[in-house]
Amino acid sequence: MTQAVAFILAPKNSGLERYREKAFSLLKNLDKAKVIELRGEDIPFMVEEYSRKGKNTIGLTGEDLFNEYCVTENSNNLEILERIEWSDPNTLYGKPALCLLGPKDKQLNELAKYLSICISAKYRNMAEKYLKTLEESGFCFRKIYVSGCVETGYSEGIADLAIDIVYSGATMERNGLRVYEKIKESDFVIITAKNEPKPRQSIEGIEKYSPPTDGRRGMLRLDFNENTKGCSEKVIQALKEITADEISAYPEYGKFTSKLAEYLEVNEKELLLTNGSDEAIKLTMDVFIEKGEEVLIPEPTFRLFGIYAQIAGAKISKISYKEDLSFPTDEILEKLDENPKMLVLVNPNNPTGTAIYENDLLKIIDKAKNTVVLLDEAYYQYYGKSAKEKIRQYPNLIILQTFSKAFGLAGLRMGYIIANSKTISLMKKAASPYSVNAVAMKAAEAAMLDTEFIQEYVKEVKKNREAMVKELNDLGVETFPSEANFILAKFGKKAETVRERLLEKSILVRDAGKYPMLEGCLRITIGTTEQCKTSLREIKSALNEEALIFDMDGVLVDVSGSYRVAIQKTVEYFTGKSIAPAEIQEFRELGGNNNDWELTEAILLKRKVKIPKEKIKEKFQEIYEKQGLASAEKALAKSATLAGLKKKFRLGIVTGRPKKEALATLEKFGFLGYFDVIVTDDEIPEGKGKPSPFGIRRAMKILGTKTASYFGDTVDDMEAAARAKIKPIGVIPKSAASEKLWELLVKKGAVKILYDINEAKELII
Ligand code: PLP
Repeated sequence: MTQAVAFILAPKNSGLERYREKAFSLLKNLDKAKVIELRGEDIPFMVEEYSRKGKNTIGLTGEDLFNEYCVTENSNNLEILERIEWSDPNTLYGKPALCLLGPKDKQLNELAKYLSICISAKYRNMAEKYLKTLEESGFCFRKIYVSGCVETGYSEGIADLAIDIVYSGATMERNGLRVYEKIKESDFVIITAKNEPKPRQSIEGIEKYSPPTDGRRGMLRLDFNENTKGCSEKVIQALKEITADEISAYPEYGKFTSKLAEYLEVNEKELLLTNGSDEAIKLTMDVFIEKGEEVLIPEPTFRLFGIYAQIAGAKISKISYKEDLSFPTDEILEKLDENPKMLVLVNPNNPTGTAIYENDLLKIIDKAKNTVVLLDEAYYQYYGKSAKEKIRQYPNLIILQTFSKAFGLAGLRMGYIIANSKTISLMKKAASPYSVNAVAMKAAEAAMLDTEFIQEYVKEVKKNREAMVKELNDLGVETFPSEANFILAKFGKKAETVRERLLEKSILVRDAGKYPMLEGCLRITIGTTEQCKTSLREIKSALNEEALIFDMDGVLVDVSGSYRVAIQKTVEYFTGKSIAPAEIQEFRELGGNNNDWELTEAILLKRKVKIPKEKIKEKFQEIYEKQGLASAEKALAKSATLAGLKKKFRLGIVTGRPKKEALATLEKFGFLGYFDVIVTDDEIPEGKGKPSPFGIRRAMKILGTKTASYFGDTVDDMEAAARAKIKPIGVIPKSAASEKLWELLVKKGAVKILYDINEAKELII
């Protein structure tokens, strides 16, 4: 080690003593190093933390724990400095090894495809990664993570396989297991954090702004307020005519700037071209903000203001927009008394769409004599107003505009600053000399000359914006007054459903829910009439979406060979007498029992045998699990049926099964991915089981839907659905087909009876 080490993080475990000592003997310059003892598994994480805080640190640990950490944290910031070979003749492999263990007398390919596996929680992620390859080859695992005694899980019949560290192999053998595959061997390692350059302090706390930069092509992009029609044909024409000379030389800005000045009716000395207005924001912060100076940002607004201010080391003060998302003029005026260094104004604002009243804006600019006013007018074409004529009177006013939005040139990155000529010449000192490229300039020139294209597009957008607002309001969706080419719409709990549904139809909208005050809001760019119609149609269908909710047993899964057998055997166990399946069916038809434990209890009571609930449950589960009854279950629904229904409806389950079992069963049949919500017995309070509508209501609340159907096979299912004010649909599986049940279900409100759940497709579509 070349550099002196300040901290050594070493494992507490005395079993590692030999390796610890060896590691110390390898390390030099350790006089001043402090040794801190930790659990081996905490060491990689803590080495990273210590190093992040600038402390020169190394750690001693097992390679298994180091690997696990790298998988878990996806970290490649740590490296192995020295490997100390683990060599112990008493071990099975000479060193600890993470292994897949299975029954001694079998091979992996002789086992069933659905297996439960006990995994040492310490190696959770390495195990998951390893199991993925087995899953790809058709295995399906129910994973049980435990902190110790992994192998006993197998010997006690809880699991079919195990993943754990094998050392001498004695525990494994004692439990009837052998190694099926070695996943990873482990040496003892000295680790350290890679030397990464330390950023400025202001950068460290910044939360990265990550707008999607990939995967938007070919989609209907209503998420970034671009021109959804593209750009003017004249731009494409101009680009086709670009010459090699124009590209090979560094860009010359004079001619273009004077044309832009003429277009904007300002002086060319009052203009500075930037690489999109993003660069203009950054440049303004760089020029004016000294570390610790105050930047006032009304919130919510475009995120890059905060980020660039933070990079500049500013002290950011936020002032909230009003509840109706109108501009907080009075608060800003008051705050200006404190002379903040900069005030950010976005007019119209993104993401709210709301504008600052003209009078208010003038009052603010007039009061802000000692404050730099950064006024972003990215959407000025839609608003139709700009404050640019004020720059001569106010040298502290800096206006940003862009070719990204109405002009449709977002991909070329061209923006500009309009300010007092003195301010511009000051800002030029800090600007990159060639940040705008020749191609962008060529395109921008053609774009601004095609005034007709812009005027028509802006007119169309404004018309469509009003129509869209009306349509959304008619659907009960609140919107906010917009002066830009987008609207902010409040979908509340349905926002995510709407966004996802639109995405499924290749329509992108922006989730604004992460901005302060905008929970449940989506920002939707307004485009052509056709595009608005398309998005509206999908929004409507997402909002009106009906949900289909299913009972599990007897509807999706045939439990005649599992739960029914468990009922039968539990009753037999407590009464010493056998019971016919037909009698169990009769009890089911009678209703009043939320799950099969309760049903068993009812049968026992009828036979005058009173057993505490807990005892019944325990025995029932023991029979169900020990006798592997789950493996006798069959799927009643076909994957194709569920996949078809999922395309049109949101699917849910309300079942009397415990969560763990429900999930394992759904996973086993490959059904898990079809359901957006699964309400299980353990989520339903005592006394609120079916026929109470509690479970169904809960599922509907999570789904955010008011219309649904519930598919069930008992009278209680029908009653619960009717009480939840949704359509009860009876399902009578072949194994239980009886006229009596048909009558009972209809009597309890079933609007339809299916003899096969796969008929649901025809029934509903
Ligand atoms: N300012 C506002 C208010 C914006 O909404 C955006 C883009 O979304 C920008 C600036 C950035 O635009 P440009 O593409 O010019 O960097």
